[in-house]
Amino acid sequence: MKAGSGIGCWNPRMEFMPVEDLKRLQYRLLKTLVFRLYSFSPFYHHRMEEAGVHPDDIRNLADITKLPFMYKADLRDNYPDKLFTASPDELVRYHVSSGTTGKPTVVGYTEKDLNGWTESLARGLMSCGIGRGDVVQVSYGYGLFTGGLGLHYGAERVGATVIPTSVGNTERQIELMQDLRATAIACTPSYLLHMGEVAEKMGVSIAKDTQLKRAILGAEPWSEKMRTRIQDWLGIKAYDIYGTSELSGPMFCECSAQAGFHVWGDLAYTEVLDPRSGEPVSPGDEGELVITMLQKEALPMIRFRIGDLSAVDEGVCACGRTHPRVRRVTGRVDDMLIIRGINVFPSQVEYTLMAIPEVGEHFQIIVDRQGALDDMLVRIELSKEGTTDRITDLMRIRRNVEHKLRNTLNVAVNVELVEPGSLPRFEGKSKKVIDRRNI
Ligand SMILES: [Zn+2]
Repeated sequence: MKAGSGIGCWNPRMEFMPVEDLKRLQYRLLKTLVFRLYSFSPFYHHRMEEAGVHPDDIRNLADITKLPFMYKADLRDNYPDKLFTASPDELVRYHVSSGTTGKPTVVGYTEKDLNGWTESLARGLMSCGIGRGDVVQVSYGYGLFTGGLGLHYGAERVGATVIPTSVGNTERQIELMQDLRATAIACTPSYLLHMGEVAEKMGVSIAKDTQLKRAILGAEPWSEKMRTRIQDWLGIKAYDIYGTSELSGPMFCECSAQAGFHVWGDLAYTEVLDPRSGEPVSPGDEGELVITMLQKEALPMIRFRIGDLSAVDEGVCACGRTHPRVRRVTGRVDDMLIIRGINVFPSQVEYTLMAIPEVGEHFQIIVDRQGALDDMLVRIELSKEGTTDRITDLMRIRRNVEHKLRNTLNVAVNVELVEPGSLPRFEGKSKKVIDRRNI
């Protein structure tokens, strides 16, 4: 048997805790957190007064909805450390987000914060089979970005051996992967694909010439299609990991079931809300992830609106763990379109189209307003399988796509079939949308 191939468990008492006990623990942690912040944080005190809520109003877990939201802008507005609730001498580290959309945000950590982060990753890594005897190549950036150091500490905690390669120098990375017999890698999915290509150019097959068995992939959106491609091509299992610097960094990882990442309930409380109304969606439905970090000291987060879209499965996982699983993030709230009063996400369109064999990879959404009504047109290229000259076939395909989109989006959609290769090629989802409405 290869080293490290057994699926272990880091903290069984916590990971398999009965749901009722977990909820009681969450309530206790929430109550303590709210009381602490109301008493000692001017920011939270003011926010709660504004919202007309007092710590005594939190009488059960569901009362969390009485608490005000927190936004990324709150961190920027309070740059660099005005939201911190630990004294400077209690801090042991800073990380700083890249600030792609404005001023960067600074996250401070106490020793307990680092411990909670590392504990979360230790559970996640062991739940997908990484532990003592594994050699983990950490190819996330080290430094102000949280990925490298986060995974580094998590992998060391479970007793694995870490190769801190960071990003870049790909040929050297592939040599080290072979020479030091790496069994797992943590990086972005696109970097792993790049590594696979570079390895092939070097005459190295990752599937045949290395010991690599697992990849922990995150820090950018990826799809199930990409998972299948990576797994089939590189001969490994690929697991999704999720987090943002505000939550600490990469925090929550998929287990062996590969059915969404477990959000450890003793560390975080997850809500899924309608992005417009702020009200909870029906159980299992997609919405905006809103997370409360229950145990953070230096930079607490109550009802933080991350802006990522996903859905939560509350039932006990196939792996036996009782903590909720969050499905792969499908898009950003910022991309949301409102069509005839209905929330529509370009990611929903993409997922629907991807499941139709006659439809190619490229599409474009055009939104217009005729009189008072919104009109949504989706232009699609046909795939090789879908290409046909027969008018009746083309009409059938078009009706089928319209029908499927209407079912998913709950709004009528017109579909136009266009010549393969005729649509503009873009990287991001949002650029696939042309909104001509003058609102
Ligand atoms: Zn699981």
